[in-house]
Amino acid sequence: MTARAKPLFAANWKMFKGPLEAEEFAGNFSSLYAAHPDRRVAFFPPAISLEAFVRATEQRPDLEAGIQDVHEEVDGAHTGAISALMAAQVGLTWALAGHSERRREFGDDDALVSAKVCRILDAGLKPIVCIGETLEEREAGMLSEVLERQIRAVLASVDGEPLTWAYEPVWAIGTGLTASPDDAGEAHEIVREAIRGGGGGELADSAVILYGGSVKPGNIEQLMAVPGVDGVLVGGASLDPETFASICACPIGVR
Ligand code: PEP
Repeated sequence: MTARAKPLFAANWKMFKGPLEAEEFAGNFSSLYAAHPDRRVAFFPPAISLEAFVRATEQRPDLEAGIQDVHEEVDGAHTGAISALMAAQVGLTWALAGHSERRREFGDDDALVSAKVCRILDAGLKPIVCIGETLEEREAGMLSEVLERQIRAVLASVDGEPLTWAYEPVWAIGTGLTASPDDAGEAHEIVREAIRGGGGGELADSAVILYGGSVKPGNIEQLMAVPGVDGVLVGGASLDPETFASICACPIGVR
């Protein structure tokens, strides 16, 4: 039987918190949240704040960090872009790929997301691949089709490496709407089956699948109790140290 990874609580700060605020947050959060050996916590500050955040959490090896996006090439004339190899030099563990805001605002399609996942793996970082359906797609009955397409594209480009996925229904991101436990459970089951279909049983059993979309202290316990939910990716509610500390410290029972 494949050993299950520890649940992951991940904070996506989007375009909030420069280096000064990131450093201040790190100090506050460290005093509010004690390391829990049964879970992992990771932060995704804006790229410019990563170094400050990593430095400010040097004494807290339980607090990991990652970059929100990388360029799909190793290097080159791409003004303003950051490569996965550069991100790795800052001492990061993780990198997001395919966040719905990247897909919507910057045109990150399945091919581009897959290329980014490859660069992330090549650089020795762990990708969190974000997938999810829009409200129109859900209402048109396309949930499985969309998730399967997004997953298949990535699995076809990697070499069987274990991946972390974040199922984030686009209609629940930053809207205050959360998928019901039943909806989240159904989608996570579809995701795991799609991974099984594209990468095999072992990859599916070991895959870490996070839920994201308006996670907050009031719904975290309910979401973490859903079978197949291995953690959460939190946007808005991760910007306040007290709120995110209470999310990260939620009871998760024996898993
Ligand atoms: C996100 O940014 O991935 C996210 C889920 O945001 P929010 O928690 O604000 O919905």
